[in-house]
Amino acid sequence: MVATETPIPVTSFAVQVRELSKWFGNFQVLNRIDLDISVGEKVVICGPSGSGKSTLIRCINQLEPFESGRLHVHGVEMSDARKNVQMVKQQIGMVFQHFNLFPHLSVMENCVLGPMTVRGLSRRQAEDIADHYLARVRISEQAFKYPGQLSGGQQQRVAIARALCMEPKILLFDEPTSALDPEMVKEILDTMTDLARDGITMICVTHEMGFARQVADRVIFMDKGQIVEVNRPDVFFKLQSNERTRQFLANLV
Ligand code: ADP
Ligand code: MG
Repeated sequence: MVATETPIPVTSFAVQVRELSKWFGNFQVLNRIDLDISVGEKVVICGPSGSGKSTLIRCINQLEPFESGRLHVHGVEMSDARKNVQMVKQQIGMVFQHFNLFPHLSVMENCVLGPMTVRGLSRRQAEDIADHYLARVRISEQAFKYPGQLSGGQQQRVAIARALCMEPKILLFDEPTSALDPEMVKEILDTMTDLARDGITMICVTHEMGFARQVADRVIFMDKGQIVEVNRPDVFFKLQSNERTRQFLANLV
């Protein structure tokens, strides 16, 4: 019998999370999370430190296992050990707080590594793609430098370009500006705002509420491993139904 790959179902959801719970030992870090994110949607997740924001997006990106619940990415059940799960994982890019570039590789090598090893592209193809995305984040002239020779803002733009080189359909950001000096925050938020104009699905953990107002379709507030509030930004910032959300926003300014 010929092995056939299960076709990816057509769905308008990029991510569907159902009753997802996760524990670190006895500590429940995520408590029955339900979340549907549409294809192309821009979602901002905020909430106090330790509320489970990073863990949630790490579960979505398969960087963390979870004990119960279900996760679908573009309609594919991610807890299945099926062949196409790996392919779906390649569709999710991630940008971290501390950039996580390989320090011993040049900007260009950081960008071509994934496309060559994971996507199986030739060096020539991978470099063409890297040229394109390095230009997109306006950092082409730094392509042959090493991460240590760049500012934090420049390193983060390289990290965004590197994620884009995998041509993901979903981009996850985990506090991409919180390790940056204030003068560099804007260049990253501008880059993210520019990317948001494309059809890509974006899930951003950030406390940059100006960005949330301007870019997000929905803002999610998490506390103690739960989603306690979800709303369109205009409603979210005007009218919080939950006292914890109100307190959190009041403390931000
Ligand atoms: P946030 O991103 O909202 O600050 P995290 O998802 O990083 O929160 O962490 C949520 C909670 O889980 C915190 O209390 C944190 O200490 C704990 N935690 C995170 N990662 C681990 C781990 N690998 N082992 C044990 N506890 C963890
Ligand atoms: Mg975090």
